[in-house]
Amino acid sequence: MENSKQLRSWLDDMELPHPLVIAGPCSAETEEQVLKIAHELKDTDVNYYRAGIWKPRTRPGNFEGVGAIGLKWLQEVKKETGLKTATEVANKTHVDLALEHDVDLLWIGARSTVSPFIVQEIADALKGTDKVVLVKNPVNPDLSLWLGAVERLHKSDIKKLGVIHRGFSSYRKTKYRNIPEWQLAIELQTKFPDLPLINDPSHICGRRDMIFDVSQTALDLNYDGLMIETHIDPDNAWSDAAQQVTPKTLVQIMEDLRIRKVTD
Ligand code: PEP
Ligand code: MN
Repeated sequence: MENSKQLRSWLDDMELPHPLVIAGPCSAETEEQVLKIAHELKDTDVNYYRAGIWKPRTRPGNFEGVGAIGLKWLQEVKKETGLKTATEVANKTHVDLALEHDVDLLWIGARSTVSPFIVQEIADALKGTDKVVLVKNPVNPDLSLWLGAVERLHKSDIKKLGVIHRGFSSYRKTKYRNIPEWQLAIELQTKFPDLPLINDPSHICGRRDMIFDVSQTALDLNYDGLMIETHIDPDNAWSDAAQQVTPKTLVQIMEDLRIRKVTD
């Protein structure tokens, strides 16, 4: 990929003293919930506040997100806390609405990365944008699909690109919700060494007690950042309840990761 160095300049320009941190609830549920969490994350290491507005549920009948109204809540987050905002987009309508509401970072979810048609539609809708765009790995361990999605976005002249490693689903039962298969992310990095690589321990683990260890492994492997689902009342979250942590726990995790790094 030519000019690949410029792919990470958006991150280098932030001159962060720590890994990039994206945190916030799996799903925006109510305006009050979104704002409460944001206020608790305001003076922490968090750089981008995430909240899913449109939720890609594997099976029907579950909470599918609050929809476009949630974008207004994210605008309010930015106004009240100064935090930059992030949400998942899965089609052109989502992209148009997210851009209209000035969302700062858009990510493509694991269930969308598997579909070249969807990725191309999103790439076309985002053409030339100066927003940050991150591509989650596809649900299945297929490196070409992941690379293909990055290439489609790059061809669409999107400069602030990166990838999120959220693990891979498997029929095999393991301790992980989605098996990390670290070697796939490392292989992707050897192909595009300048592409920022973010780890999503929440979706890899599926349970909050493993998040610190997976985050530590990611940082030991030189990942550029972490995306960690954070909720004021994790057990009662409307999606992914078992894996979300409280803002207080998130701050503790970041602190412990820092201590490990300093004492290494
Ligand atoms: C999410 O980030 O809440 C999400 C739905 O993630 P994934 O696409 O990794 O399943
Ligand atoms: Mn989630």
